[in-house]
Amino acid sequence: MNQEDTPIQSSMPTPTGDSICADRACARCGFNLIGQQVLREGHYNMIVVRCPECGTMAALEEYPILSKWAGRWARLFAALWILLLLGYAAGTTGSIYGLGFGSVAVASDQMSVILSQEYGEWIDDGQGGSQAQQYTMRWTTMDQGWIENEFPRVLRSSGGIFSQIDWDVVWVWLGMGLVLYFWGVFWSVVLLGARRRSAWVVILALSALAVYFDYIAIQSGNFTNSIELAQRTMFSTVMAITLVVMAACSGAGVFTGRKLARLVVCLALPPRMRVPLGILWTRDGLELPKPILK
Ligand SMILES: [Zn+2]
Repeated sequence: MNQEDTPIQSSMPTPTGDSICADRACARCGFNLIGQQVLREGHYNMIVVRCPECGTMAALEEYPILSKWAGRWARLFAALWILLLLGYAAGTTGSIYGLGFGSVAVASDQMSVILSQEYGEWIDDGQGGSQAQQYTMRWTTMDQGWIENEFPRVLRSSGGIFSQIDWDVVWVWLGMGLVLYFWGVFWSVVLLGARRRSAWVVILALSALAVYFDYIAIQSGNFTNSIELAQRTMFSTVMAITLVVMAACSGAGVFTGRKLARLVVCLALPPRMRVPLGILWTRDGLELPKPILK
């Protein structure tokens, strides 16, 4: 073996000018090698990266074997990912629609009982005409004359819309707060490419869409009874409060979501396995927590 075959100088790695542009863990200590210089090592002429934490060298693949298929898979996954996000957007809208409808239904419960009583008494007083007419008015369609002439007086004497809110609705709002907080966390983590404010705008837009569907559903009833009349009457007041709850709780979720996701990742995964999820840190300009070397 001739010593001159392996001159010391030529085995010194030289920078290639490229750097690592994806999350990649050091095989020894788990440090994230993103941003490190790619070097060409002189002995075997291989391209390598050196871990700045522990000095370990790792060889890189210079000619990716899967390049053609990698591109196809990437496009397929991108398409599936977008479909999945659209599905979650529909799920978000649907859950908010249900909770919005529920809040109006529960909040107007007390008023619908009052309206039903007042309307029943009005029919019993003989205002409704013949027996058959009274039956129709009681069980099929509320009398339009009563809604126009009597209902405003009943509403005033009961103290108005706000005083008639059935406060059982607070339970619906609590549940809704939890669901919207969850959606805030979900969308802030899933839309890592976007700013947090944008994730919040997405949820607010989906909420507005859901509330619009609630409005359509509550206005389109063709069968008018005291329940529907109470829901239509209270819709805007209850929905205004509901929207404040939605915006506040989804905002809290959006602005604490990534922090929560990082905490869960740190609790659940050892340092090296966190590296593929490094974007949760790097997206917010943070460094992955350094593993403790033994
Ligand atoms: Zn290392």
